[in-house]
Amino acid sequence: MRSQHWIGAALLASCCQPEPTPGPVVTTGAPTAAAASEATPRPPAPDFESHVAALRPRLPSAAFAIVVEPPFVVIGDGGERDVRRWAERTVRWAVRLLRQDFFPDDPDRILDIWLFANRGSYEKHVRELFGQAPTTPFGWYSAHHGALIMNISTGGGTLVHEIVHPYVAANVSDCPSWLNEGLGSLFEQCDEHDGHIHGLVNWRLDGLQQAIADGTIPPLSELVATTSDEFYGPRSGLHYAMARYLLLWLQEQGRLRTFWADMAGTRAADPTGAAALRRALAVDDVDRWQPDWQRWVMTLRHE
Ligand SMILES: [Zn+2]
Repeated sequence: MRSQHWIGAALLASCCQPEPTPGPVVTTGAPTAAAASEATPRPPAPDFESHVAALRPRLPSAAFAIVVEPPFVVIGDGGERDVRRWAERTVRWAVRLLRQDFFPDDPDRILDIWLFANRGSYEKHVRELFGQAPTTPFGWYSAHHGALIMNISTGGGTLVHEIVHPYVAANVSDCPSWLNEGLGSLFEQCDEHDGHIHGLVNWRLDGLQQAIADGTIPPLSELVATTSDEFYGPRSGLHYAMARYLLLWLQEQGRLRTFWADMAGTRAADPTGAAALRRALAVDDVDRWQPDWQRWVMTLRHE
C-alpha cells in the first residue's frame, strides 16, 4: 500500500512510503519469565531522556518540536504533527527496512535529525546552530555534529539517503564512497516491495545515459577503485549515478542483499569491494561485463 508521496523540489525526487503499520501493543508491568529468559543481553539503552533534556536549551525557538524515534531524535519547526509524521512514516519505516536487509547494528550514539520546514529556516538555523553555511540545498549527514541536517521542504528522498550513511558507518568500517553513496542514493527514491526497501529509477539516470551515449563513461573498475577524493571530485555526479545504477541492477537481479553482506564480511581482504562485486556479477572482469549493464541502463526510463 502506498499512501504518501513527498515530492521533491529541483532535482530531488520523491520518496514514497506506505502507511505505517500499527506498532506492537504496549503493555506495562514486569515482563513475563519466558520473555525475560529469551531476551538477549543488550548494551545499556541510550539515554534519550538526557539527550532531549540537553537538546531543549539549544532549540532556536518555541516553534521546534522534538520526537524521539530511536536511534534518532527528530527535531523540526513544521509543527509537532508534521515532525511526528516524518518520524513515524519515513524515519521508522526506513530504519526498520534498512536494518532488516543491510545493517545489523545501530549507530552507537543518538543522532539528531533536524527537519527545517523551509529554505529560509534551513539557511538561518544551520548557521545559528552549526556555525556554517549549508553545503547543499537539500541536506546532509554531519558525523561531526552527530546530525542529519535537512531542508525537509525538498522532500523525503534526501532524508532516506542520509539515514543510510550513519548505518553504513556503524556496520562497514571505512566503507568506500562508491558503496556508501551508491546505497544512499539508491534509496533516495524508493518504495516497499514485498516487505523490502526498493530503489526506483530517478533523475540521476539522465546524466548516466548521456555519458553512455557520449562514450565518456569511465570503466566500472575505475569507479570501484576511486578514493573518496576522486569519487567526490569533478565527476562526482557521474560517479553517484554509476554507483546507484550498478546497485539498482543488483537489486533487480535479486543480488543486492547478498552482495552487501558478502562485501561487509570480506572488507579486510577486499577494501574496495571489487572482489565481492565480481562474485555478485559472476564475472572475472567487470569492465568486460560493463557493455551489458550499459545496454540495460539505456532501456530505463523515469518520469
Ligand atoms: Zn550521500
